[in-house]
Amino acid sequence: MISYVNSRDSDMKIRVPDIPEEGLLQEADLPVVINDHTGPGIAHVLIKIFRFGKRLLVEGAVRTSVTVKCSRCLKDSLLPLDLTFREEYLPAEEPGGGKEQELTNKDLDLGFYTDDELDVTELVKEQVLLAVPMKPLCRDDCPGLCPFCGKDLNEGPCGCRKEEIDPRLAPLEKFKELLKD
Ligand SMILES: [Zn+2]
Ligand SMILES: [Zn+2]
Repeated sequence: MISYVNSRDSDMKIRVPDIPEEGLLQEADLPVVINDHTGPGIAHVLIKIFRFGKRLLVEGAVRTSVTVKCSRCLKDSLLPLDLTFREEYLPAEEPGGGKEQELTNKDLDLGFYTDDELDVTELVKEQVLLAVPMKPLCRDDCPGLCPFCGKDLNEGPCGCRKEEIDPRLAPLEKFKELLKD
């Protein structure tokens, strides 16, 4: 039998000794703070924790949306995320933890817990952060800002001359000049 707990607590921490050997299933809506300029997003989390002595195997699914700054137009946009993860956790303070690491499955990511407590909120935050791209886009074909006047080209074309030379093509323009002589 898998224990089942439904929680709406904002901060979910699980006492490791309380995790039954046969596993623990948790479902929760956790507020996850990803960055400073937006409030917490609610992450719907389904998590299964199995315990083998002090070693934990955590399988989870997270559905949430995070506010990110588009790397081209710099506007806030909502990025939906639907992710699953499988991670192993060991006590951070355990002596000889390094030896145990060698025996762990290389396909699993390894995390650590302290004081006999698994901080699920923190764990979910880590997984969400890992899933956010380094250079997020509001949409795949975001035209970004005009390099000359800074206008957001999502709002329409700017008044800048179209024949401005693309800096990447500048060497080619020089070459053309040489051919003219
Ligand atoms: Zn954009
Ligand atoms: Zn412009």
